[in-house]
Amino acid sequence: MSYTYDDQNIFAKILRGEIPNKTVLETEHALAFHDIAPQAPIHVLVIPKGPYVCYDHFAQDASDAEIIGFTRAVGEVCKMMGVEENGFRLIANAGENGVQEVPHLHVHILGGRNLGRMLS
Ligand code: 5GP
Repeated sequence: MSYTYDDQNIFAKILRGEIPNKTVLETEHALAFHDIAPQAPIHVLVIPKGPYVCYDHFAQDASDAEIIGFTRAVGEVCKMMGVEENGFRLIANAGENGVQEVPHLHVHILGGRNLGRMLS
């Protein structure tokens, strides 16, 4: 599938420094920041710096260095936020059925409470 990236989306503006954010971690390939409307005591978003709409787009078109860098950044943020011991949830919504609001790939890291069953 081919994707068209909208560089006016909110996370593109955050990456360009046009909108402030509460940064948790910045690396060569990723930026992690607190979600503006947290759904759990810990709710951090991790985004790749490249222009990828969703996970499939990223997996298809990103370089190995970007994929490794992004994946390691997600792990690093989990460590930094201290969610590893009691568990956490990663979510990457995609497209209409996934109810993705912002069309720039982002992984939600949720933790700090029992999140309940997601699929029932
Ligand atoms: P989605 O539904 O696309 O998976 O999630 C988008 C997330 O981005 C939501 O959890 C929403 O609260 C968050 N969000 C939307 N606008 C902003 C913003 O300007 N700053 C931050 N930090 N988070 C945002």
